[in-house]
Formats: sequence, C-alpha cells, structure tokens
Amino acid sequence: MTHPDTAAPELDGSASALDLAPTPLDVLRDVFGYDSFRGDQQDIIETVAGGNDALVLMPTGGGKSLCYQIPALVRQGTGVVISPLIALMQDQVDALEALGVRAGFLNSTQDADQRRQVEQAYRSGELDLLYLAPERLGVESTARLLDQGTIALFAIDEAHCVSQWGHDFRPDYLRLGALAERWPGVPRIALTATATQHTREEIAERLGLVQARHFVASFDRPNITYRVAPKDSPFKQLLNLLRTEHEGDAGIVYCLSRASVEKTAQQLTEQGIRALPYHAGLPAQVRAANQATFLREDGVVMVATIAFGMGIDKPDVRFVAHLDLPKSVEGYYQETGRAGRDGLPSTAWLAYGLADVVQQRKMIAESEGDLAHRRRLSSHLDAMLALCETVECRRAQLLRYFGQEHPGACGACDTCQNPPEAWDGTVAAQKLLSAVFRLDRERNQRFGVGHVVDILRGKATPKITQWSHDELTVFGVGEDLSDGEWRSVARQLLAQGLLEVDSNHGTLLLTEDSGEVLGRRREVRMRRDPAPAAGARRQARPGGAKAEAVALSDADQEVFERLRAWRAAAAKEQGVPAYVVFHDATLRTVATERPGDLDALSGISGVGQAKLERYGEGILGALHSPE
Ligand code: ADP
Ligand code: ZN
Repeated sequence: MTHPDTAAPELDGSASALDLAPTPLDVLRDVFGYDSFRGDQQDIIETVAGGNDALVLMPTGGGKSLCYQIPALVRQGTGVVISPLIALMQDQVDALEALGVRAGFLNSTQDADQRRQVEQAYRSGELDLLYLAPERLGVESTARLLDQGTIALFAIDEAHCVSQWGHDFRPDYLRLGALAERWPGVPRIALTATATQHTREEIAERLGLVQARHFVASFDRPNITYRVAPKDSPFKQLLNLLRTEHEGDAGIVYCLSRASVEKTAQQLTEQGIRALPYHAGLPAQVRAANQATFLREDGVVMVATIAFGMGIDKPDVRFVAHLDLPKSVEGYYQETGRAGRDGLPSTAWLAYGLADVVQQRKMIAESEGDLAHRRRLSSHLDAMLALCETVECRRAQLLRYFGQEHPGACGACDTCQNPPEAWDGTVAAQKLLSAVFRLDRERNQRFGVGHVVDILRGKATPKITQWSHDELTVFGVGEDLSDGEWRSVARQLLAQGLLEVDSNHGTLLLTEDSGEVLGRRREVRMRRDPAPAAGARRQARPGGAKAEAVALSDADQEVFERLRAWRAAAAKEQGVPAYVVFHDATLRTVATERPGDLDALSGISGVGQAKLERYGEGILGALHSPE
C-alpha cells in the first residue's frame, strides 16, 4: 500500500472480499450519529482509507477529527494520532469512548502501570485510536511498540507546529518527517487550521508529504459575527457585551498581559460572572485546573493570554473577546476561531483604540531581532490595523488576507450591519500633522496625543499656556471635531503609517510619508467611528450570522435549560466534560423536536448508537419530566 497507484484496488478488495468493514457513511451515522459529510470530509476520508496521504487545511470547527477517526475505524489496525496537546488527550479519549470507539493515549502524565495497559491493548489490536505526544515517537521503544501491532494510519494533528516561524513551533514535530521512512506503507494525514499558503508548503515539505493530496477548505466561519468596537472604557464595554448578549455563555477573553488577565478575571468575578484566569505565569496545576473547569462546566469565561487555546475543542464557546489588539491577522483568526465550533451563532468582538496602536508600535521598535524581523512584525501589525480600520466587510477582508475570495456584504460583521461612513480626512490630517510638525520644530520638545488635540481644539490648559502653545498658528484650528474624533484621526494616521510614536517618550513624530499629506500630494481616507453603544449593538443575538440554528422560543429555551442541567449532572457523575455527553446543538434539537421515544431520539443529529444506549433513557426522562 506504499504507492498511491496500488492503494485504490486494495480498498475495493478489502471492502468487498471481507464484507466486514463498514463504509465511512455507516460509521458516520452509527457511531457519530450524523447524517451526511460536510465539505471535503468524504473525499478526504476516502483518500486516507484508500491508503493515500492527505494534507488538510480546514478552519476550526470544520470537522477535521472525523477525517482521521473514520478512516481509522474502517481500516485494519489502530490509527495513531500525534498531537502536541497532552493536557487534552484524556478528554479526547473520553469523547471517543462515549461514542463507543476504543481509544487510548500515551504521554508523560501517566504512570508505568497505565502505560503498560494501553500498550497491551494496542498490541492485542484492541484500540481503534491511539494518541501520542510527538516526543514519544523519538523514543526507540515507542517505535518497537508500534511494530508489535497494526498501524492503520498516522494522523498529525496541529501540523503547523512543524513550522519554525509560527509561534506554536514544537521541535519534536521535525522528526515526524521520518515516519514515512520507517513505516512506508502507512497512510499519513496532516491537519491544521492555519490558513496561509506559506505554512501549507512548509508542512508538506517538512513532513515529507510529497504525494499527498491537498485539501484546502474555505476559511469562512459563517456562524461567527465579527465586530470591532472603538475602545473607550474596555471593561464596561466587555461587561455590556456579556450582559446583553452572552449571559451565562462560555467564552474566552484575550488580554495582552498577565496583569490585565488577572485584573479582568477578578473584575468579572466581582460582577458575579464565573471567570477564571489563564496565563503562562500561573502555576501549572492552577492552569490545568482552570482549563479543566472551563472545558467541563457550562458557562465559564476564561480570561487568558494567547498561551491559552490551541486545540481546545470545546464546541460551545459562544464568544471570543479581545481587550487588546492581536499582533497579526493570523493570530486574530486563530483566536476568534475558537468560538462556535458547533456551528451555532457566536461573536468575535474586539475593542481597539489609539493606545493599542501606540503600544504595539512601541513593542515592535523595542523588540529584539534584526531589521528584517521587525519589518515582518510591522507588516503583520499593518494588516491587522487595516482590518480594524476598514469600512468594508470585515469577513471579506479577513478571507482576502488568506487568499480566498468573498463577495462581501456578509451581513454578519459590524461594518455590514452598521456601515461606517468614510470621509475625506485630508484636511484634518494636515491640521494634526502640522501641529506635530510645529511642536517638533519650534520647541524641540515633543508632546503626546492629548496635548496635540488640546492645541487643535484651542483649549488654554496650564500646559498650553506654560509653553505658549496658544500662540501657534494651529491653535484652535480644529474646533470642528470633538476630542474623540481627533483621537480617531490620530489613531488612523498611526495605523496608516502617516504618524509615529517615539518609543522612549510616547510622543508623536512625523514619518517619511507625512510630508506627502502636508504637501497636499496625498489624500487621506478615514472611517468615522460609529458611536459606542449604538442601537445595533444591543440586539439580543447577532442577527446576521448564518448559523444553523435560530433563536429558541421561550418554551423551548426552558426545556433546553433543563436538558443542560441534566447534562451537567450526567457529565459530573462520569467525570467528563459536558460536551462529551451531548453538544449544545444536539440538546437544542431535542428541545425543539421533543422526541417521544428512543427511536425518534436516534434520528437526531449527534445521537449515535453508543450515546443512545448510554444516555437515551436519561435525556428522555429529563425532557418529559415536569421540572
Ligand atoms: P475541527 O477539529 O476541525 O476544529 P471538529 O472535528 O472538532 O472540528 O468538528 C467540529 C464540530 O462539528 C464537532 O462538534 C463535530 O462533532 C461536528 N461535525 C463534524 N463533522 C460533522 C458532520 N459531518 N455532520 C455534523 N456534525 C459534524
Ligand atoms: Zn460583512
């Protein structure tokens, strides 16, 4: 089965001659309880089940796991899954066992006894799937163990970890290129949600996936509504979002610094919201415990640095909020992508303001590394800023960044729902830049944004009188705009590279390009920030998200809550995350369709055979019990 050409006949042979192996569709229906494949799933599954290699780029929530789990179930032997996420292996195995799939893992968290049991199960062919940490494969004893059983396939999850330029790089991934040499007949499938062409090429090269078919899905996440709010008082804005749109929902709040993580988590807790902190500075046990609580319980808010999130496959994260500007569009996409894996409407919300631009430019200026490195950071930031400042559909711009076309007018981003006005900011830009120029020239003293705005607005503050800035020709020329509008002008000039901030003093400076504006050789287009807390933001749910579900009626909502309570108890009893029992999407369908018996229940998406047996009576009981 080494060569792709010989692989297909072998699949046909084994399927018809043995007549035992279920088809992928059988497995999808009986084991997972789903009706049909999504997107490229079927093609991918057939490719791998047929003994060929595949490279899969699919967004989070796209359904990557089935792409290796089903081939592992239809092929002889055990599917070996390489994953960097040791802390999540137990949950992954629990979720599979709840489906009646025989699964195990080997990693450093186990004692010798536990390990021996799993090894024995593998040798005797009792495992459908075996999860391995990448460093295990470097150990000769692991390789010998694998030789003592039958390997159905290798799945390399989070394959972008092989990329040395990404922030998820794991040196052990580099060794995975050798899999093909040691086990030439075993098909390999590499999967990632990282979208760039560059990463894809790097994965193929480093993992030696020469013959692999590439499957690149659309990176659109139609159920996520993207919103960027002008940052004004961020905590209040966040609280408003949680209270008006996401009461009781699970979500992630990303902050840049550890200190702001802790502070925000505490503030939320004081407001009666169940919030937990997560950052690399916390002791490992605290981190693990907080992560487990977030995964296991309903409605927990995780406040975290970007150290949190890779591989978190909690399906019902309803919102991802950024209190600080992400450093790149890739990061933004990955972090927001953790919302709504289950396909239900979810929110990606970002608060963004002048101080973010100043802070990030400063961090880049001070960062270690050569000029080329700083340039790369700058260009990543510029793309992120362009996304924040756009007056066009954010989804279209986001996808264009990853080289995918989208017609725009998505209806589920803030610029589509509440179109910002574009305006000709050339004159305003000239005023602000010339104020900066004058301060710089005449006094050899530099001043921050607040002072510049005071000059433009003609305010005789003590500082202005002290420096006689009321004598400048630009004093009071900007009374037509408010303080907030001038700050927005400054922010957009910074974002467009027409103004910069001195990293030592935080004061404003002109750039090489500023001269073009001052010399009237360049127009400056600007976006008028919508007023904060505008009406559209107060909707109960983002209306435009093209999700599979619509809002539940009050009666159904009540039933749904009852099912959730039942699920929480069942999950607790078995020590597994709530979503391992049933996903929200399944509970919602049960709440609306109200199946009367097991047979009707089995027709609902997400209810496979094992779950029907294990939970069928329980959920029907909860459904039909009067409170
Ligand atoms: P990924 O690993 O790509 O982020 P998952 O494999 O976790 O995505 O799948 C996302 C969600 O979609 C899961 O809840 C999964 O059970 C569900 N899912 C996957 N494939 C299908 C399908 N064909 N039909 C219905 N639901 C599916
Ligand atoms: Zn849009």
